Amino acid sequence: MKDITNLFGSMVFNDAVMQARLPKDIYKSMKKTILQGTHLEHDIANAVANAMKEWAVEKGATHFTHWFQPMTGTTAEKHDSFISPEGNGKVILEFSGKELVRGEPDASSFPSGGLRATFEARGYTVWDTTSYAFIKDGTLCIPTAFCSYSGEALDKKTPLLRSMEAIDRQALRILKLFGNTAAKRVITTVGPEQEYFLIDKDMFLARPDLIYTGRTLFGARPPKGQELEDHYFGCIKPRVSAFMKELDEELWKLGVYAKTKHNEVAPSQHELAPIFTTTNIATDHNQIVMEFMKTIADKHGMACLLHEKPFAGVNGSGKHNNWSIGTDTGINLLEPGDTPQDNAQFLLFLVAVIKAIDEYQDLMRLSAASAANDHRLGANEAPPAIVSMFIGDELKGILDAIESGTSYKGKEKHQMEIGVTVLPDFPKDSTDRNRTSPFAFTGNKFEFRMLGSAFSIAGPNIVLNTIVAESLNQFADILEKSKDFKSDIASIVKKTYSEHKRIIFNGNNYSEEWVMEAQKRGLSNLKTTVDSLPKYLEKKNIDLLTKHHVFSEGEIHSRYEILMEAYCKTLHIEALTMVDMVKGEIIPACMDYQRELVDLLRQKKTYSGNLDCTVEEHFLNNIAKLSACVLKKLTALENAILESSQDREILAQAAFFRDSIFTAMSELRLIVDELETLVAKKHWPIPTYAELLYSVI
Ligand code: ADP
Ligand code: MG
Repeated sequence: MKDITNLFGSMVFNDAVMQARLPKDIYKSMKKTILQGTHLEHDIANAVANAMKEWAVEKGATHFTHWFQPMTGTTAEKHDSFISPEGNGKVILEFSGKELVRGEPDASSFPSGGLRATFEARGYTVWDTTSYAFIKDGTLCIPTAFCSYSGEALDKKTPLLRSMEAIDRQALRILKLFGNTAAKRVITTVGPEQEYFLIDKDMFLARPDLIYTGRTLFGARPPKGQELEDHYFGCIKPRVSAFMKELDEELWKLGVYAKTKHNEVAPSQHELAPIFTTTNIATDHNQIVMEFMKTIADKHGMACLLHEKPFAGVNGSGKHNNWSIGTDTGINLLEPGDTPQDNAQFLLFLVAVIKAIDEYQDLMRLSAASAANDHRLGANEAPPAIVSMFIGDELKGILDAIESGTSYKGKEKHQMEIGVTVLPDFPKDSTDRNRTSPFAFTGNKFEFRMLGSAFSIAGPNIVLNTIVAESLNQFADILEKSKDFKSDIASIVKKTYSEHKRIIFNGNNYSEEWVMEAQKRGLSNLKTTVDSLPKYLEKKNIDLLTKHHVFSEGEIHSRYEILMEAYCKTLHIEALTMVDMVKGEIIPACMDYQRELVDLLRQKKTYSGNLDCTVEEHFLNNIAKLSACVLKKLTALENAILESSQDREILAQAAFFRDSIFTAMSELRLIVDELETLVAKKHWPIPTYAELLYSVI
């Protein structure tokens, strides 16, 4: 058996390695830079780079790369080898502080949403010292932020770091008021649970839709779906188990705290959950998890599908973003605690989150928006598109009691007076019963469940950090001037809860009644990506994001453009793939089968006996009729695609894709799926749902 403790982090240039390999004073400066963001002097960068190179070369690395997260949602890397000519035909291995700290990739082919003209192709990658360098596939990877020549963020990491700073600033103000001077930093933490599908690689390669779009664009329902619920937590098949084992080991080497693995609800669906860590590192790690899932699945003869809805009729895949706020001294600020002092602080942070989610429902919703995730949200398998919060009956009871100034009628009677009474004990598990809530309090953290499986978790956490920073900012402004701290806290908790409790819903979020109720409460219901993205540009949201220096106005506009374009492009690719498959595979297959049936009919009719031809005629007729329908729907889709090339403003263009292209695609699929049930299996040109979902044995 491998020694996991030695394996863990063996490919990471982490604190222990730095301490062991760097001279004491260099290590000290480096540590200061990591913890306090101080400037890294040139000679220190050089020394660190050299130690890093020596360590990496010992581990077999030949190249280095600035590893960054452009707006494509995946990661980017351009590898440079360590070699440097020595003049005598030989080379030495070199890596300078300059190369470590800053890179200048030609950035013209990454989405910038108009932030950077191609003639200013230069972009900068800048070392993020808060996330450790690591070796992946023989390359030393240096986590970096990516920005334009003029300093605008072109990636997901830069605004995430800015949002972490924003909440750090505001939360520290609050802590100071509570007399906590030990904490030097407040950090948000995240544990993202990752869902995915594994199917056989040959099946994957036989489906152009999976190859080009990540999801099946056709497929009749298989005889068995997830109705027996026999896959969830079921026994893991040997092939999947071998994959999971290798995945765990490779992730551990990179210091990823891979912890839990199990089968999910849909056939061939699985989940991996790591132990939580700081949001920045959790984001980097989640990107690595997704990448490794794909490459390791491939090694095991399988394909990993991270798309939010690879198959109609069975559950799609999401990502649960478990989020909390903690201090550098190890205190979880969302832990209810059991002393009055902690209670008051906890309740203040709790209502800060409640206020934030209510005021910025739209930002939360749009942070989980994509063409692929539109298939999930509101489809009774994932949270609805309505953002609400679950806090459990006990916490709600407590807040209700505070609001009305009455005693909390829990198991025992408690007079709720903040700062004096201890919070009544409430069983932790009672806060985690509602699996339908988009944003649920789960004991000492919140679980945001709207994210799609393929998402970078950066976007949703940028929003979460910033909106909570804003609540804390407003509270701190009041409390710093307070003459009666205890009474002012009590009135903030009471007032905030009163004003924002409409966002709390402890019932079934999948029910029709909730949609009506939410509407009555005035909550927003932004059903699609196209409905939600324009909210980015609302004044209140621009004001918030610019106030906390998370985005400049230009950056917000660029992100809006990029996300809208990605939506249109996704649907465009799907539409073209559909046309291609129907013309190139589905229609020819129907013709082949019809030809076979016609031949048989002809032979039967010339046969001397009087043979019954009902079956052949039945199938022939129905297939011929449905094929004609397919042609009609195909033509409609092709016309819509043509129409999509007209010049439109981006919002109108996205709406066109949603209303015309998507509708035409759905109608075409319906007929093709029906045809699939009529055409002989040997003629059907692509693997069926049954074959795909049960392909890994
Ligand atoms: P579930 O019932 O949803 O599976 P778990 O208790 O297994 O809940 O936790 C799910 C995730 O929440 C894990 O990744 C875990 O590390 C993470 N988590 C736990 N505590 C925190 C915290 N304080 N901050 C962020 N994430 C946390
Ligand atoms: Mg969970």
